[in-house]
Amino acid sequence: MKRTGISFLYLIGERLSDFPQELEGILNRPNISFHEAFYELTPTPEDLLLKVHSSRMIEGVRQTPYYETALYSTGGTVQAAERIWRNEIDNAFVFTGTGDHHAGRDYFGGGCHFNGAALAIENLRHKFGAKRFAILDTDSHHGDGTRDIFQDDEDVLHVCLCSQNRDDGTNVDIAIPYSISDEEYLSILEAECTPRIAQFKPEIIFWEFGYDATSGDYGSKGLSIDCHAEIARIVSQVADNACRGKMVAILCGGSRRDIARHCIPRIINCLAE
Ligand SMILES: [Zn+2]
Ligand SMILES: [Zn+2]
Repeated sequence: MKRTGISFLYLIGERLSDFPQELEGILNRPNISFHEAFYELTPTPEDLLLKVHSSRMIEGVRQTPYYETALYSTGGTVQAAERIWRNEIDNAFVFTGTGDHHAGRDYFGGGCHFNGAALAIENLRHKFGAKRFAILDTDSHHGDGTRDIFQDDEDVLHVCLCSQNRDDGTNVDIAIPYSISDEEYLSILEAECTPRIAQFKPEIIFWEFGYDATSGDYGSKGLSIDCHAEIARIVSQVADNACRGKMVAILCGGSRRDIARHCIPRIINCLAE
């Protein structure tokens, strides 16, 4: 049984309005810890933001209504990764009110303001001397911001399932056709993604979990609502083999409340197995 941490904040918008109530039956388990913004979770500090983003970009986010949400969303990821590093938990699920993967070094957009995975990686590097990292992105869209930050960084493997193909070692994109079956998607994941991650030998894996590729959501590739828990199982397995289970799942795109309500408890159950 894994010790799973949940980072939570109440500034997360309509799509997550069934939470944390939908986690009833999960939150009272002894291997689950719940960390809430304004209580245990603190906002990402400015000196860490400046290790990833330009001061011009940070200033731009400060002018939006999402500045505080972005600070706490990324704080949830940064602190979950720290807890994993201190061996207080094995893995984590991070609720976010604003996403990661379209936030680059000097720009933001597409519902993403600061890049939580990137901030967590820089934090682990500077505080703990961690060296190798993998980011797996199963949001429907290309993780352009994450790519912008890490494309020349050979210690970060970025594997992104999107709409283009690329493979130059640490920057990997795999084009997913529209209207793919769960079986095909999962077999691409197991054939193309997890072997690369295992071979790279990361010390921790960040999973950008977007559910917008689900049938009926805005980035639909035709995945069923049950596909995401299967993805979680595969990511957990590769984390078990590569880095003793160290993994942070970060909520990325997706708009439908019913899909969130279905997927997220199942993913957390899978992480906590
Ligand atoms: Zn997306
Ligand atoms: Zn991509």
